[in-house]
Amino acid sequence: MLTRVMFVALALTAAMPAVSSAQAPFTIGNVTAQPGTIASGQLVVAARGGDAGTTIPFTIVNGAKPGPVLALTAGVHGAEYPPILALQRVRGTIDPETLAGTVVMVHIANMPSYLKRTIYYSPIDGQNLNRVFPGKPDGTLSERIAYALTTNVIERADALVDLHCGDANESLRPYVYWETSGASPDLAERGRQLALAFGIDHIVIDRDQPTDPNACVYLSNTAITRGKPAMSVESGGLGSTDAESIARIERGIAGVMRYLKMQATGPDPVAHPIWLGRALVVDSPATGIFYPAVERGHTVAEGTLIGHITDFFGKTIAEMRAPFAGEVLYVVGTPAISKGEPIAFIGERAAQGDAVTKR
Ligand SMILES: [Zn+2]
Repeated sequence: MLTRVMFVALALTAAMPAVSSAQAPFTIGNVTAQPGTIASGQLVVAARGGDAGTTIPFTIVNGAKPGPVLALTAGVHGAEYPPILALQRVRGTIDPETLAGTVVMVHIANMPSYLKRTIYYSPIDGQNLNRVFPGKPDGTLSERIAYALTTNVIERADALVDLHCGDANESLRPYVYWETSGASPDLAERGRQLALAFGIDHIVIDRDQPTDPNACVYLSNTAITRGKPAMSVESGGLGSTDAESIARIERGIAGVMRYLKMQATGPDPVAHPIWLGRALVVDSPATGIFYPAVERGHTVAEGTLIGHITDFFGKTIAEMRAPFAGEVLYVVGTPAISKGEPIAFIGERAAQGDAVTKR
């Protein structure tokens, strides 16, 4: 019996390496937050190879009590505003005196994209920041931003919530990703609980992510391939700053903090999740002017017209149809379209287990 008790105690210790008996100061870059305090600053991505570098504003809320380190990231895509505005509000509402653990907020991960108001791509190097993780210390500016986030934030965190919405051209209904690729059963289950805790009922099961930590591609997958539960959130879109999309993110963060036992109260997890077992981005076959035929949240049958594209004089040159029956998770809501870019994301309701997702 004694042997068994010791084994259990050792197992618990091994499972929670980040939780020490006393809360310590937490430092990122040249910013240190003492237990029970909030500190903010900038990560500096130095100039290199002809670009001017950039800065990444962040906040450390270091609780007075020990607990996990939760990373919250916004602005990986710079024109996705509700996550950025939600973190402004969350920063002002977490009480470090009662917090157990540490919250690290990245307020705007992709400052060049934010300042130049670009969708998808960096105005400096043309790359999508959420496709270049884990980044490189000597790469393009996007790769150096990714590297700074990987080494300063993800490697320090015990869990990650990466906050997105429809980009400025995307009309989107709220959903989250449960990302399981390469995760052990235990890690996959912790990711599932994280997704449920956020409180958005539409959950895309994503089993199609890379499993190599050195080629993890996505920010959330950077955490997962390093053994940490993570999720991506989508709430809002079309460059808007609507209050409901912001409040939904605030509630979700509170739910996650309750699940992680960082605070005693928070919203309940989703009681009746809608698992989307198959989801597919429909890419544009042509360049021109896009006319959507569906709206976010619409239910479509296989073959339903999603929209059409005209040339610049008004002649229809392409029609896009739903690849299978499902729900429109997002559809492009502005005219500009280039061949190969997404025009819509269709999700199919399914039981857990048979997911094939491309995004
Ligand atoms: Zn995004």
